[in-house]
Amino acid sequence: MNGNGGHGMQVVDVPKSHQYVLSEEALGVLNADAARALPVAVVSVAGAFRGGKSFLLDFFLRYLNATDADRNSGAWLGNDEDPLVGFNWSTSYERNTIGIHIWSRLFPMTLNGEKVAVMLMDTQGTFDNDSAIRDNTTIFALSTLLSSLQIYNISGNLKGNDLQHLQYFTEFARLVANDAQPFQHLKFLIRDWQFTDDLPHGADGGRRLLDRVLEVRPDQPADQQEIRRHLRSCFEEIDCFLMAHPGFTVSGRNFNGRLADLRPEFRACLRELVPLVFAPNRLVPKRINGQPLTAQEFVHYLRTYMNAFNS
Ligand code: GDP
Repeated sequence: MNGNGGHGMQVVDVPKSHQYVLSEEALGVLNADAARALPVAVVSVAGAFRGGKSFLLDFFLRYLNATDADRNSGAWLGNDEDPLVGFNWSTSYERNTIGIHIWSRLFPMTLNGEKVAVMLMDTQGTFDNDSAIRDNTTIFALSTLLSSLQIYNISGNLKGNDLQHLQYFTEFARLVANDAQPFQHLKFLIRDWQFTDDLPHGADGGRRLLDRVLEVRPDQPADQQEIRRHLRSCFEEIDCFLMAHPGFTVSGRNFNGRLADLRPEFRACLRELVPLVFAPNRLVPKRINGQPLTAQEFVHYLRTYMNAFNS
């Protein structure tokens, strides 16, 4: 996408020196947006490479670009043959760079009667092993601190080590945030959920899975109990969504993202998930110390947090 439609731009880069670098050019674009003075609701998708994050964000873009009538009728999802465009998603195995990408345009929306600007953020990292996770902690901490909704993209199932990674990010983030309650809404998004005999796709299955996984039981080791209490206390809200597998055409070289190639179960999940993410009574502006942040102030905080992480 280009022109008025916007484009993905990398705002934070992580070169080999592990000093995080901001793109002044990208920040300039955000600062010039007509909606920069509105409170900003930041929707972030974070997780490992090749997890389908950019692919999902492109459906978010379709929804945000649709008219109210198309949102209400379901037509926002598009036509069967339309190629999927927006953030660069890819069917190749090549590794992308670690970092944070933001859509160059803000989307004005009315949430709970208040005009806000919605910002989309894509946070890429690696989760190959524990040392990679430590290297990536900063980038995930940063995006969790700066989002109103952090969607944690996980493949297959929600496991103990996913909770452990989150604990790293949140503890690290708390070191720099001068705020007693810095995190808002966390959504675990489980991709390729297979165990539908046990729990159905969608928000209902997700809620039931989360209740099981976050349950604190006396027979658990003390550190496992602690992680669960820590996560519940960190976020104002935590939920989960179980996503269907899109079908194996998605990994083909000629796949262009058209709906016709996606399994009906996956399309049904998109129809449930995307309006839920942007529901006016659920999505909220980013707040720091209880105060809503504008897009302009977002740029200021991004700089401040990065300097703190780099020092
Ligand atoms: P990102 O690196 O996380 O942004 O991943 P991409 O969005 O670039 O997608 C990587 C590959 O995964 C592409 O081939 C997509 O077609 C495919 N893909 C998208 N969504 C899903 C999903 O839910 N499950 C699976 N298995 N693949 C997906």
